[in-house]
Amino acid sequence: MNVPLLDLKAQFRDIRKEVMAAVEAVCEDQGFILGPRVVELEQAIAKYVGCSHAIGCASGSDALLLSLMAAGVRPGDEVITVPFTFFATVSSITRLGAKPVFVDIRPDLFNLDPTRIEKMVTPRTKAIIPVHLFGQCAEMEAINEIAHRKKIPVIEDAAQAIGASRRGVKAGVLGDTGCFSFFPSKNLGGFGDGGLVTTNDRTLNDALAMLRVHGSRTRYVHEQVGINSRLDALQAAVLTVKLKHLDRWTEGRRRNAVTYERLFADAKLLDGVTLPKTEMGNFHVFNQFTIRAQKRDELKVFLKEKNVGTEIYYPIPMHLQNCFKELGYQKGSFPVSERAAEQALSLPIYAELTDEQLTYVVDSIKTFYRSH
Ligand SMILES: *Cc1c(COP(=O)(O)O)cnc(C)c1O
Repeated sequence: MNVPLLDLKAQFRDIRKEVMAAVEAVCEDQGFILGPRVVELEQAIAKYVGCSHAIGCASGSDALLLSLMAAGVRPGDEVITVPFTFFATVSSITRLGAKPVFVDIRPDLFNLDPTRIEKMVTPRTKAIIPVHLFGQCAEMEAINEIAHRKKIPVIEDAAQAIGASRRGVKAGVLGDTGCFSFFPSKNLGGFGDGGLVTTNDRTLNDALAMLRVHGSRTRYVHEQVGINSRLDALQAAVLTVKLKHLDRWTEGRRRNAVTYERLFADAKLLDGVTLPKTEMGNFHVFNQFTIRAQKRDELKVFLKEKNVGTEIYYPIPMHLQNCFKELGYQKGSFPVSERAAEQALSLPIYAELTDEQLTYVVDSIKTFYRSH
């Protein structure tokens, strides 16, 4: 038995005809940058998420960068976010010369702890970036309450959370802007890099549309120094086809999560392993099924020998990254994030997995803990 962490070939086999027809149509047109197919995807995603505007761009990293630029974040400003996230959440801040101000995560979830935000707000705080890590929304009403009171924009890092919702509202409309990634391993993945920003604010939408094309509204007239960050028509065509399947794939991921819960309970493995918790009111889309495991590193090696693919998202919290050392944090600064980095292990969860494969994963983990 072989259970990779992700098998995109299995997904492609299912949709090959549709996708290839869409790719061929773009090749016939030879129109590659932005254009009607990008507009079609933007409208489809806006409808899917439930917002009025969507702006395609080159990556999820750029979606964050563009959102911060549109929010007017400048050198010396502060932006509150979590240390337990993917690098791009934080680099989007430092790239603008602004300073990331970290707030630890909740011990029982992997998301920002809203009770820790307020004391970190200063007059320089220009944005808050909650991350909907692994496909589950952060506690947005608590975050928004502080943000509204202090008049600070909220930028959702929804890169892992397309289709996720909280109390019936989808990720991407829970803040001022929502940042999505179409990196191939995300729940809606392109055939390369891609990203998108959602918003209900027309002024922000206009700013984003300008910033992604070098800060220009009329060609060769530049109002601001923007960046080159456009979504291309090939990605848009592929993604428009794949979006139609997204809810089905999400259901597959959620079904697999339920199966894991049953298998782990049956295997009486809940001592060595803590399963991911879903908060009340959250619709979790399981971009990752991330457990906390004792002897995590040994378990990972063992599973690799059993042909079970796993990954550590994320082994080094951002406050301990070399490139951010001038921020002055050290080991112990954010103990909850540090513990998560030591314990987290993501298991295969993609929609096409069979029950036999899931059983094999849990059986292998059981074998490990019997002998360790
Ligand atoms: C993937 C990801 C990003 C960046 O997206 P790219 O498209 O790879 O640039 C940002 N934040 C989080 C949490 C992510 O998982």
